Amino acid sequence: MDVKISKFYKGAKALYSFVFDDGCYLDSTLETYEAFKKVEKETGVKIKATSAQTVNFINGELKATWDKLLAEGVYDISAHSVTHCLCYNLDTPEQKRRYEAEESKKLLEKMYPSQKIISFVIPNGDDTKEGREILKDYYFATRSGHDYINDVDNLDWYNIGTFTAKFGYSLADYTENIDKTIEKGGWSVQLNHWLSHKEKDAFHAQKADTFLPECIYLAKKCLTDDICVTSFNEAVKYYRERECAKIEIISKTDREVSLKINCPLDREIFNERLTLEINSPEKVTVTQKTDTPSGILTADLAVYEKNGVFYADVLPNTEIDIAF
Ligand SMILES: [Zn+2]
Repeated sequence: MDVKISKFYKGAKALYSFVFDDGCYLDSTLETYEAFKKVEKETGVKIKATSAQTVNFINGELKATWDKLLAEGVYDISAHSVTHCLCYNLDTPEQKRRYEAEESKKLLEKMYPSQKIISFVIPNGDDTKEGREILKDYYFATRSGHDYINDVDNLDWYNIGTFTAKFGYSLADYTENIDKTIEKGGWSVQLNHWLSHKEKDAFHAQKADTFLPECIYLAKKCLTDDICVTSFNEAVKYYRERECAKIEIISKTDREVSLKINCPLDREIFNERLTLEINSPEKVTVTQKTDTPSGILTADLAVYEKNGVFYADVLPNTEIDIAF
């Protein structure tokens, strides 16, 4: 039996995430929410996206909507500065850059107590390598505006690339990007601002009638295990954990392995399940033992099979018994 941590969630071939910038387009946010609900109803696939929020853009009505969407688990939050300044090039004094980085995290965590803000999205993609340095003191990842499909084996955590939605793009442009992501075995982060019904207000907006069909296309690809859709922050957690986690074999026989995935990261933040890829001649059972204040909790985990390989989603820092 051979066990390793899967490159992508659920043993998929690639990963797709949506990030909606600014946080202030109320009608569009409600439209994306309706689209995600329709996708779930039609395909069973739940899409969770990330909202990159500029603190000063969030007023009372928006805040109430975001509270509801966060409670439903449809979105999570990234920081997108306090003022949306053009402040990550070197023309800006370090003090100003530090203020925007530090305060946006603090203020968003105060606004949304359920959220840990782990990532930053640079306003206007206006950044330099040196400008980004400060962000390392506050965040685990930074998304830039540069257009590319990310290679998860060689991630530059402070310069994660995007696929930027534009009004001029047809549905085929979006589905092609999904196909290309699968073909490359990479991670695409689609940057959206809002969904637009008319071109005159369409700066970097996605034509509204392409969004739902794009999501349905993506969801169907998820069902065939070609690709997995997660929020940007979930992907950051998965890859940060995967990068740091080490499998410790506790005992091993021909039919049984006991192991622990040791991950030194802060457990309050890095609580994402990792997918184990298990090569075994027969179907395995996977049991997880978690230390809790009231004793050891034992749970049988779901095991799924694809192309003769078995998979299970496990929490790091728990003991895992695999047997057949
Ligand atoms: Zn922005």
